[in-house]
Amino acid sequence: MRYISTRGQAPALNFEDVLLAGLASDGGLYVPENLPRFTQEEIASWAGLPYFELAFRVMRPFVAGSIDDAAFKKILEETYGAFDHNAVAPLRQLNGNEWVLELFHGPTLAFKDFALQLLGRLLDHVLVKRGERVVILGATSGDTGSAAIEGCRRCENVDIFILHPHNRVSEVQRRQMTTILGDNIHNIAVEGNFDDCQEMVKASFADQGFLKGTRLVAVNSINWARIMAQIVYYFHAAIQLGGPARSVAFSVPTGNFGDIFAGYLARNMGLPISQLIVATNRNDILHRFMSGNQYVKDTLHPTLSPSMDIMVSSNFERLLFDLHGRNGAAIASLMDTFKQGGGFSVEADRWTEARKLFDSLAVDDEATCETIAEVFNECGELLDPHTAIGVRAARECRRSLATPMVTLGTAHPVKFPEAVEKAGVGQAPALPPHLADLFQREERCTVLPNDLKQIQAFVSQHGNRGKPL
Ligand SMILES: *Cc1c(COP(=O)(O)O)cnc(C)c1O
Repeated sequence: MRYISTRGQAPALNFEDVLLAGLASDGGLYVPENLPRFTQEEIASWAGLPYFELAFRVMRPFVAGSIDDAAFKKILEETYGAFDHNAVAPLRQLNGNEWVLELFHGPTLAFKDFALQLLGRLLDHVLVKRGERVVILGATSGDTGSAAIEGCRRCENVDIFILHPHNRVSEVQRRQMTTILGDNIHNIAVEGNFDDCQEMVKASFADQGFLKGTRLVAVNSINWARIMAQIVYYFHAAIQLGGPARSVAFSVPTGNFGDIFAGYLARNMGLPISQLIVATNRNDILHRFMSGNQYVKDTLHPTLSPSMDIMVSSNFERLLFDLHGRNGAAIASLMDTFKQGGGFSVEADRWTEARKLFDSLAVDDEATCETIAEVFNECGELLDPHTAIGVRAARECRRSLATPMVTLGTAHPVKFPEAVEKAGVGQAPALPPHLADLFQREERCTVLPNDLKQIQAFVSQHGNRGKPL
């Protein structure tokens, strides 16, 4: 399988190189040159497979030529065997034909484990084979950092540095990162905000001289391998609900458009998905596009669903690429307009094409809490605020009551006690057994000023399992 850039100028890469690449050299994002397509009979024959076996069949075409079948299957068995529910991604019914796909049974209790647990193992496999070392540098406002650290802690050839804004992440989120101890794990609390952290990561990717020949790998959702891993659970859910003979609709709590883009790909690979709902919080750039064909930046509003607090959605470029007939030059020009501060609309027929599949809704904090309470009172199910936004959008936007509606349950409610308390449905639930002593564990973290040179100096002094590069 070969991968091409959404801006048409960077060289095509194979899976191994795309795994290690961040942005393409032309500023674009990598996508498969040709999407595999499965027949209905093939999809139907996957009913009842264990999750890792299904994952193997769905993802095999994407890694073909880079990772052999036996190694890949073993990696998948280990990855999803470490989740603490036998079904890996269980479906829970809320109401008639209404479901939540629980994606929070991985080690850090958010859906990001599906991709990052796999990414860590794939990196390990490829780097050991090549005899190379890399440095992962990422910024987090919460969930990505802990999932990336958990995913890469056992990688022999990876050192991981995660920047988070000092005193601005929740205590559960901080402890999920800082209590994972290892000489290749480095938590840096930056005396600044999340944007400062992200800017320093971007600047470091653009100029990697401070790494003395080692290279940086990205763990945010611009990394293709993360999207790939998320395609699987759309198949998993749909097959259990009668697919492919029957179509299914999904509502997806959305920030960077990574998770829902995986659903769009699943559909193009042959899975009958009749509707995809983009559910956002007040940070609603995607809702404004889907409802009014305007892609325009707004200011950032902190909400009760912080993992969806974004101003722009990086993966949206991947959808735009398809909507424009995969014309890289057109995307480069749109993105250029956008970068210069202008918003854009797309031509009416392209927007209409998108709206055949996508609907959207923006849900504010008040409606989020209302939905947490409503669902709890209806069926005793406690939703986290991100999932609640998905359920709200599912209920308001669904096109057909006859089609099963699945909301992606993106996080466990224990991670976001503030929203649960505000919803007035009693106390936040207890931490699951593997995290029960989280508040007693030793933390390791370095506080550094909001200064690029000092951050880079820290990385080069500790980038070789705690020793200088
Ligand atoms: C990351 C995250 C999201 C948003 O996912 P995207 O792929 O960025 O759209 C939603 N909910 C939770 C809990 C998350 O951690």
